[in-house]
Parts: sequence; structure tokens; C-alpha cells
Amino acid sequence: MATKVLIVEDETNIAELLHLYLEKEGFETAVAPDGGKAVELFRSFRPDLVLLDIMLPVMDGWSVLKKIRENDKTPVIMLTAKGETDDKVNGLEMGADDYIVKPFEMKEVLARIHAVLRRFGAEENNGEKKLSFDKLTIDLDSYELRVDGKRVDTPPKELELLYHLASAPNRVFTRNQLLDEVWGFDYFGDSRTVDVHIKRLREKLEGVSDQWSLKTVWGVGYKFEVVNS
Ligand code: CA
Repeated sequence: MATKVLIVEDETNIAELLHLYLEKEGFETAVAPDGGKAVELFRSFRPDLVLLDIMLPVMDGWSVLKKIRENDKTPVIMLTAKGETDDKVNGLEMGADDYIVKPFEMKEVLARIHAVLRRFGAEENNGEKKLSFDKLTIDLDSYELRVDGKRVDTPPKELELLYHLASAPNRVFTRNQLLDEVWGFDYFGDSRTVDVHIKRLREKLEGVSDQWSLKTVWGVGYKFEVVNS
């Protein structure tokens, strides 16, 4: 899944440069030329990371950051002008994850993005119910399944089943184990329930990645198989 970066920058040259460079590096990008558009795009584009300029038309970077932080922890890197030390401190206190001083080298931007994403990923796995694999994110906090960057509507039990399997990659679960652990002991269904859910999950996940797959272990049950794990 391509990591999505929202570029918020009113200087067309810088925005274009970032856009071209990051796309070339395999990111998917969207550009917002003002603060209003930034908030709008943050909601519709759902970026994994935001590069946020401070001096912007309509709404400045601080207000955008505040809006984002109202209910989201998505990493934000502030783009500050040279010498604006107060801005850096201010930004970090307001919940920015890092800052880059203009003018910057593209390589530096890339390094910062990777560092912040790494840190964020490590924090995410700390107590949060979210699993990420190649082109797949299973989020049990927001009950959201993302396949190849797109949100896929999934009934809660299907998502819980997938999460359960994927939380222990390559471990084989029997149908009865899955019934007990995902549906609960007092569930009235039989093991066919598991098969039906697996079948529906497969329809959503088939052929998406060669890094993982939902495997049937004949005569035993199922596993979420991960390559090189
Ligand atoms: Ca600006």
C-alpha cells in the first residue's frame, strides 16, 4: 500500500517539487494550497502523514494542526521558515511530530518522513489494535479494513476473525478455536460459520499481495500465512 502524504504548501514551486519527488519515491500525494483545502483533503484523502506549511492563506498551519489533532494522531511534519525557532517549539508542543526548516533538501524531507513514520508505527503497535502488512491494514480500534489503500466494508466478525488470525502469523487455528476465541463459548453456530467468514474474507483479499495469504490447512483449520516470517 502506498503511503499517503498530504502536502500543505501555498508556494506552488515547493509544492510541485515535493509532489514530484515523493511520487517518484513511491508515495501517493495530494496537495493543498491553503489551510481550508488542507482540512478538507485531510478528511477525504486520509493521509498517513502531513507536511504542513505554517504561513498559509485561509487558515494558517497552526489552525490546521489543531483541527487535525482534535481527533487524529496522524503524524504531522511542520515546514518552517529559517530562523523561526519559536515556531518549532510551538509546533512540537501543539502536537507536530517533527519540523523541517526551509529551504530544505528533498533527501532530508524523505529521511524525516521515514523517521516519523517508523516512530509512529512503533508507537501504534503499543497497545493499539492495529496490524499492518503489505497492502493490508486491520484496525480493530476503528473497525476498519484497508486493502491496497482502500477502505473495504467488512462486518465486525469478519474483521475480528482476520485480526485474530493475523495477530499470530503462520499459527494454525482450528475451527473450534476460532469459534471460541472470536465468537465466544456460548455462540450457537457450528464450524461452518468459520468457513463462510473465511470465504468472504478471501473474496476481499485474494491476489492483493504475495507477502501474505489466508491459508486452509486441510483437516486442521486456518492460518494467516506471512512470507519470510
Ligand atoms: Ca507559505
